[in-house]
Amino acid sequence: PRLLGDALDRTLAETMAGVARRTSAGRVADYIPELAGADPDAFGVTLASVLGRTYGAGDASTEFTIQSVSKPFVYAFACDELGADVVHRHVGVEPSGEPFNAISLDGRGRPENPFINAGAIVTTSLVPAPDAGERFARIRDALSRFAGRELDVDEDVHRSEATTGHRNRALAGLALAAGTLGTDDVDAATDPYFRQCSLRVTTRDLALMAATLANHGVHPLTRERVVGERTARDTLSVMATCGMYDRSGAWAFRVGLPAKSGVGGGIVAVRPGDFGIGVFAPPLDEAGNSVRGVAMLEDLSATFGLHMFDHA
Ligand code: GLU
Repeated sequence: PRLLGDALDRTLAETMAGVARRTSAGRVADYIPELAGADPDAFGVTLASVLGRTYGAGDASTEFTIQSVSKPFVYAFACDELGADVVHRHVGVEPSGEPFNAISLDGRGRPENPFINAGAIVTTSLVPAPDAGERFARIRDALSRFAGRELDVDEDVHRSEATTGHRNRALAGLALAAGTLGTDDVDAATDPYFRQCSLRVTTRDLALMAATLANHGVHPLTRERVVGERTARDTLSVMATCGMYDRSGAWAFRVGLPAKSGVGGGIVAVRPGDFGIGVFAPPLDEAGNSVRGVAMLEDLSATFGLHMFDHA
C-alpha cells in the first residue's frame, strides 16, 4: 500500500489507535518537575510531505519541549555556518552506543557524535556569536526557519534545566579542557543549550522540520532554503546512525529511517525525498525514547515499506 493519499489522516489515526491499545509501557521523564507533570496519555502525530501537505491525528497540536530533537537541527545550522570540516574538528560521527549523558571523548578529545549531550553542547558552542544571548538568538532563529514559524522557550523548563544541569556543565568543562569546546566559557555553551532544549514545539512543527531535511534543505511551505543540500545529507547520515540514543542500531534495523528522539517524548523521522514525521507521546523506554512513538514508526515502516532498504 502507498502511504501518501487522501485517506492518510485516517490511516494515521488507525495506526495510533492500534499502538495505544497495545502499549502503555514506559515512564515519563522525571529529572525535572515540569517534564514529570506531562500527560502520560498524550499521543499525537503529523506527517508533512515535501510538497507541503500535512496530515495529522491525535494530539498533533499539543506543545511540548523539543529537548534532544533540537540536536540535528543545531548540528545542521553549525555545519552550514562553519562547514562540516570545521565542525568535525570538534565532534565526531561515531555512534557511541552509550547513554545520552555519557562522558564521551574520543582520542582527539572530541565527543563521539553531535547527538549525545557532550557532542550537542560542543555543537551549540560552535555557533558563531559574540555572547551566549546572541548564540541562542541565532539558534532559535535557525530552528524557527526549520519549523516555518517562530518558536518560543518554555521558561519554566529552561529554569529547571539550568538549575539541575550540573552534569551537562561538567561535560562542557571536559570538552573545554580537551580543547574541543567552541568557547572558553562553559556557560556560553550550556546556557544556549539549555534554552534550545526548552523550545516549545508541536508534532506539526517537528514534521515540517523533518520535511525540510527530506526536501534537501528547503522548507516545503515557506520555500526558504534553510540549509544547503550537502548539510541536509550530512545531518540525515548522522540521524541514521546516532539518532535514537543507545538504541540506534535496533532502530536502524527495525524502522530504517533517519530519526532523532528527545526526552520530552518527541521523535522526528525522515523519508528522504518524500516526507517528515513528528510523533509525540511522553512515556519513555530505558534509553529515553518515546515507547508509543517508536511503536508508531515501527508500524508505519512495516505497513508501508518505509525502511530505507526496502525494495521500492
Ligand atoms: N535537556 C536534556 C539534557 O540535556 C535533554 C535530554 C534529551 O532529550 O536527551 O539532559
